[in-house]
Amino acid sequence: MSAAKYIFVTGGVTSSLGKGIISASLGKLLQARGFKVTIQKFDPYINIDPGTLNPYEHGECYVTNDGAETDLDLGHYERFLNIPTSQANNVTTGRIYNNVITKERQGEYLGKTVQVIPHITDEIKRNLYLLGESGDYDFIITEIGGSVGDIESLPFIEAVRQVRWDLGPNNALVIHLTLIPYLKAAKELKTKPTQHSVKELLSYGVQPDILVCRTEMPLPPDIRKKLALFCNVHLNSVIEAIDADTIYDVPILMRKEKLDERVLAKLKVQSKSEPDLEQWKDFLGKLKNPIEEVTIGLVGKYVTLPDAYKSIVEAFVHAGAQNDCRVNLKWISSEEIQHESVESIIKGLHGVLVAPGFGERGMEGKIEAIKFVRENKIPFFGICLGMQCAVIEFARHVVGLDGASSTELNPKTKHPVIDLMEAQKKITAKGGTMRLGAYTCKLKKGSKAAHAYGETTIQERHRHRYEFNNAYLEQLEEAGLKPVGINPESNLVEVVELKDHPWFVGVQYHPELRSTVMNPHPLFVKFVEASVNYKKSTI
Ligand code: GLN
Repeated sequence: MSAAKYIFVTGGVTSSLGKGIISASLGKLLQARGFKVTIQKFDPYINIDPGTLNPYEHGECYVTNDGAETDLDLGHYERFLNIPTSQANNVTTGRIYNNVITKERQGEYLGKTVQVIPHITDEIKRNLYLLGESGDYDFIITEIGGSVGDIESLPFIEAVRQVRWDLGPNNALVIHLTLIPYLKAAKELKTKPTQHSVKELLSYGVQPDILVCRTEMPLPPDIRKKLALFCNVHLNSVIEAIDADTIYDVPILMRKEKLDERVLAKLKVQSKSEPDLEQWKDFLGKLKNPIEEVTIGLVGKYVTLPDAYKSIVEAFVHAGAQNDCRVNLKWISSEEIQHESVESIIKGLHGVLVAPGFGERGMEGKIEAIKFVRENKIPFFGICLGMQCAVIEFARHVVGLDGASSTELNPKTKHPVIDLMEAQKKITAKGGTMRLGAYTCKLKKGSKAAHAYGETTIQERHRHRYEFNNAYLEQLEEAGLKPVGINPESNLVEVVELKDHPWFVGVQYHPELRSTVMNPHPLFVKFVEASVNYKKSTI
């Protein structure tokens, strides 16, 4: 294929219909036919990126190799397609306006009045085309955040209208994801909300080519016909998206509904082959037929919103399948853990993961939990703040450094075993200023981490301001906390392990961001394996 083809995914009726999963599933199907695909997300909010958002607002902030702080849907794109995304894959209204205003200040608009159309829409289109222009892709799938009718999404929908006009119908198409509610009392599926949202799209000049209909019940032929008739789409372009047991079923369901075939036919693309989904189906088979079962505690501050830990949850799904093991997660609020309650909360678990996080709240609970799993030799995995808490716990209770802490928790601590990174000391601005993105780490031969990865030079993604304070390195190492992963340039400790413990690993980076269906993360795989072994040892 020569020029990239553009597929837009819009949402109607309500949010949370799963545009990200539909986009990722379509991407998977096209990729499984041998095409090169990427997915980007355009978010209508005014923040420049989601990095400054509280996780309760928007779920996890996903970090790419190039250090972009992005929407959690990019995690789905990577997990499904198994290829990295970048800053170019996530653009917000804030970024668009920021670029336009910067250009205006530099005089680039030559005295023109700067307006939503054409200046904002041109900037949206410039960003839309960036990935396509690289020549690396046959298809660019663009998910438009929000729902049709939102004031904020209007410039994006207008840009979609223009792109379809610019490129022509063989090069750009629109998939509208909508909801077909089921009214229990009437025992009926209802098409009216979809008719309205398509009318709304039409009023902006956009006719969807394909309708993907989220539904609890199978769509009977008469409902499909009605949708086709009222929404001006072909009958075979009304695609049912029935609620699935797992998001990983969706590519298979979309294949059954021939979503990929409809897309290819409309864009006049010949497919070289049928999609090869063998590996995907193998994964699903393992996921759905586990032999083992473990329960792992996930200790964090935002546990009432599991989306805040999306990539960790999904990494457990991948690692569980790899181990033929169902992983049940027990969500533990770090604020609820106190000295007296820790045993009753953690007893019976086969492993504990202490999650990433920010700020003082809940940190002492995390430290209590780590003390318990260290002493009781329960498998432990600490990620970012979780690793930092493990260092503090060890310094306090094993080395005897009373009051040891992180300067994030206590700026006046006598023993700042975790301290603000030198490069962070002068930074005051919040957005995009942490240590972000992929860095190299060298692992010590013979460590659990090196064994898990099967290599000693790795690249992992980061998002933090504080670090292991090397002034305490010797003291902690002598007492048994081994720094087994080091950044070769900055000497920053990236991985710690405990001597004399079956599996106690803390990492400063975020391994969960690199776990995909095809490449489950080795540390999650080994942690689940250690939890299975621990369970067996307790029976
Ligand atoms: N708050 C800690 C830091 O900034 C940990 C960050 C995290 O867990 N992502 O270093």
